[in-house]
Amino acid sequence: MPHHRNAGIEGAPGRTDGWQGRRDGMVSRLSAEDACSERLLAVFARLPRHRFVDPGLSEAAYKLDSLPIGSGQTISSAATQARMTELLDPRSRNRILEVGTGSGYQTALLAELSAWVFTIEVIEALAARAKDLLGTLGYRNVLFRTGDGAIGWREAAPFDRILVTAGAPRLPDGLLSQLADGGRLVCPVGQADRQELVVIERSGDRFSSKTNDTCRFVPLIGAEGWPCP
Ligand code: SAM
Repeated sequence: MPHHRNAGIEGAPGRTDGWQGRRDGMVSRLSAEDACSERLLAVFARLPRHRFVDPGLSEAAYKLDSLPIGSGQTISSAATQARMTELLDPRSRNRILEVGTGSGYQTALLAELSAWVFTIEVIEALAARAKDLLGTLGYRNVLFRTGDGAIGWREAAPFDRILVTAGAPRLPDGLLSQLADGGRLVCPVGQADRQELVVIERSGDRFSSKTNDTCRFVPLIGAEGWPCP
């Protein structure tokens, strides 16, 4: 696949859509929490987060809480998304696999910061909505798939970065084998109601692991995750 710069939010409509004040407020709160770099704050400052939630929750979208997105799932809090992104450390030439598209907001963050994003969502309705929205917003560097993302995307591997946005009972083995040499994987691992953010780095056949903050994600379901509720 050719290297391809993202298109992203065309013409930075954020400045004129009436929500910039709220976006700036969210960025100030993220900044106060020391949650992310200037580079990432600049992306938060232009993404129309209210478009990723139901219209009734538009105002709440710019607070730092997680919110329901339907089908029993959530858009993670902006602070959590910032933390995950910083741990992942995406680079502009990276190909990234995201497991758990959800609303598509984290997908958009990654698409702004990398060359390609391959994103997989197990719930058809969420996958379809995120694909429509990111298409409307002008992203041309995101590929979507519906299904069990814990087994990865073999035809597109290896990936420089892999981000799992749902809580796994253990590290999905299939994903480790799809990580490029020098690559990095971030995944919440632990119990159904409490996990730790694990960062794996690959160097040749060696995988080093570091455990970070505790967190609480909806469960990763499927063969390498939890049984479907
Ligand atoms: N990052 C997303 C966002 O910005 O909206 C939030 C993701 S939400 C916390 C986790 C998502 O993972 C849910 O949409 C859920 O359906 C999805 N999911 C759970 N198990 C999955 C699996 N095995 N493969 C793909 N997606 C999965």
